[in-house]
Amino acid sequence: MFTEKLLMHFPRELVQQPILSVVTREFDITFNIISARITENEEGVMKVELRGKRQDVQAATRYIREKGVTVRSLSKFIRIDKDLCTDCGACVVHCPTAALYCDEGRAVVFDKKKCIACELCRTACPFHAVVVAHIEEAERV
Ligand code: SF4
Ligand code: SF4
Repeated sequence: MFTEKLLMHFPRELVQQPILSVVTREFDITFNIISARITENEEGVMKVELRGKRQDVQAATRYIREKGVTVRSLSKFIRIDKDLCTDCGACVVHCPTAALYCDEGRAVVFDKKKCIACELCRTACPFHAVVVAHIEEAERV
């Protein structure tokens, strides 16, 4: 059984939509809400653990993102191995949050504060320079 802890931000217009119920049906997964709250702007912030087969959890996460929910992994983080990175820029175009960008000298820069650990850079990197590390303790919502 694969599990993934995720931090989800639901924009105000999505708070009432049954997105998690739909993914449990469509992708054959279960979920456990660790915490949930509504912000002053009426947005939803939820810490959730998804459980199921790895490919089903990943497909469900993609679906939730495509619906407009911002999803960040609380189970892993990304690191760029600068010994392997050639600054080719292949990862930059795939990064959905601009956590990876080129500076004025064309060096690739990683801003970990913007990273949602989607791993699109890892699959795009031809030099295996993107390292995915797993963390035990999820941050507080
Ligand atoms: S894991 Fe996703 S968000 Fe983070 S740097 Fe890679 S592509 Fe960007
Ligand atoms: S794709 Fe890989 S080698 Fe190229 S800039 Fe990104 S991390 Fe570096």
